[in-house]
Amino acid sequence: MKSLKDMLLRMREDLVRDIARRSKPSTEGIMPDIGDILDSVSEERSRELDMILTDREKKKLLQIDDSLDRIEDGSYGLCEECGVKIPKGRLKVMLFAKYCVECQEKLEREEKYMREESEEGIKKVPAGEVEE
Ligand SMILES: [Zn+2]
Repeated sequence: MKSLKDMLLRMREDLVRDIARRSKPSTEGIMPDIGDILDSVSEERSRELDMILTDREKKKLLQIDDSLDRIEDGSYGLCEECGVKIPKGRLKVMLFAKYCVECQEKLEREEKYMREESEEGIKKVPAGEVEE
């Protein structure tokens, strides 16, 4: 678990460094400590970050932080839905996996179903009794 945490922290650092490089390109050698900023986001700061970060970066950062939290409280690698252990092989390819394969598929099916439901709008009422 330790190495995974290190890996996540490194990912976070890389991501933060990329963002820092992009947001302040000309601070002579002094890297703005955006890592600290990200660790303690004030309202104002987070608005600033909202503008700097792309949706993808935000999502990744959230996923990294989420995984780190889960490592801390010991729930990392367990399915959030059914509590079963997520196989190592799956975690290897999906570091941020929160669900086992079965639950993931179930959730995706439900999501798809919900989407179709809402797209369809008003459900067609099946033909009822015919008046005579
Ligand atoms: Zn599950």
